[in-house]
Amino acid sequence: MKKTKHDLVVIGGGPGGYVAAIRAAQLGLDVACVEMEPALGGTCLRVGCIPSKAMLESSGRFRAAGRDLKKLGVKVSGVELDLSAMLKRKDRIVKGLTGGVDGLFRKNGVIRYLGRGSLAGGGKGKVKAEEPVEITADQILIATGSRPAPLKGIEFGGPIGTSTEALSYPEVPGSLVVIGAGAIGLELGSVWSRLGSRVTVLEYLDRVLPGSDAGIASIALRVLKRQGLKFQLGARVTGARVKGAGAVVEVEGLEPIEADRVLVAVGRVPFTEGLGLKAAGISTDKRGFIPVGEDFATSAEGVYAVGDVIGGPMLAHKAHEEGIACVERIVTGYGHVNYDVIPSIAYTEPEVAAVGRTEEDLREAGIEYRKGAFPFKANGRAQALGETDGEVKVLAHAETDRILGVHVIGPRAGDIIAEAAAAMEFGASSEDLARTCHAHPTLSEALKEAALAVDGRALHI
Ligand code: NAD
Repeated sequence: MKKTKHDLVVIGGGPGGYVAAIRAAQLGLDVACVEMEPALGGTCLRVGCIPSKAMLESSGRFRAAGRDLKKLGVKVSGVELDLSAMLKRKDRIVKGLTGGVDGLFRKNGVIRYLGRGSLAGGGKGKVKAEEPVEITADQILIATGSRPAPLKGIEFGGPIGTSTEALSYPEVPGSLVVIGAGAIGLELGSVWSRLGSRVTVLEYLDRVLPGSDAGIASIALRVLKRQGLKFQLGARVTGARVKGAGAVVEVEGLEPIEADRVLVAVGRVPFTEGLGLKAAGISTDKRGFIPVGEDFATSAEGVYAVGDVIGGPMLAHKAHEEGIACVERIVTGYGHVNYDVIPSIAYTEPEVAAVGRTEEDLREAGIEYRKGAFPFKANGRAQALGETDGEVKVLAHAETDRILGVHVIGPRAGDIIAEAAAAMEFGASSEDLARTCHAHPTLSEALKEAALAVDGRALHI
């Protein structure tokens, strides 16, 4: 077997792993990355964030052309769906970006091994890839990510699948049942609803978007219903099976629901199968995550872990930050992630974005806060765009006025939240945001107005 040696070997070429590999190379380490898929970039680039955004954009334009442009005084006729072109466009974007990571590896001198890496154990950092090669390294970083969570009573196959299949249905299903009203369920449910599918979302909780601000989530539910998605809340799915060319879904206390396709989107679980954790002396917690310390070190010397596999918000940018902080700590002794300021976005229409704490969160923690909200219908740019659903909500500490959370549902909420995150990273007060000059007319003025509203002095409402 071929044997090689590196300073650092990263297992997993997704957002946590590939960014860590590049940063470590920038810091002067000799770095290798083991990835089992031919394409680098992980779930995010191959079958997650990027392809879903491509499909959201295409399906959004399709619906706008067929329906919404009329409101703007644009008549369009003969709008037709070319699903195969839409899917090819998505695949091209994925190919370009995953290939881009290969290019970044070459540019930074990161050596890439194709194969499934596993820890060889024995104290020393050794990784066996399937190529086959035995790689010895001073440090090993596990960044193997997550995979879709299975649901008891459901076997995947045929019309019953995960987000991966739902990114590439070869034709628009007549009906689609989505299990789970998290970001995946709502984003992909939106895509196929816009393309003409009758979409029913089954959600166990009495609300959508778990973990988000409850008020914002109820606006999202109202708007999505108006767009044609059907919701059955408080519905616990107990099974699904293939029936004819379609499937039938069992829901506790309800009649079974038949559909052409079923998308199971009930969360994701850490991916550690075949990693050889036991051999290396690492045990996982009850939910399968790898426990790490503040420096991302696992219980095995010289072995670190970042990203979805260690728990916390399963977001690509959280993994990026952890990958960077981990290798910076290894090389320089410093590196940290501010978990209080990790934005999150659901790319529905309108987008739902948040950073920091929710009202429910603050109430539970007994933290006194003041709140300011501003609706997009009072924002000039939103009116001009014809996208006036939603609002911005700013939560600030009752005494210090420090911003504790910002929640946005509205046009380009995902871009607006970046300003809130930057402000919070600098420890801003709502007064700081309120006194910052915002260009007019912009959607970001709604954030300024919400900050003014914390002190009861919004100007345009
Ligand atoms: P999620 O955990 O956000 O939502 C899953 C939903 O399924 C929950 O609301 C849960 O109550 C429901 N559920 C669970 N069991 C059920 C049952 N038996 N019957 C009915 N409902 C049931 O998970 P997700 O949407 O699959 O996303 C997975 C992860 O990926 C999340 O951490 C998410 O934040 C992340 N993600 C983020 C984005 C984004 O940032 N835009 C996009 C996609 C995914």
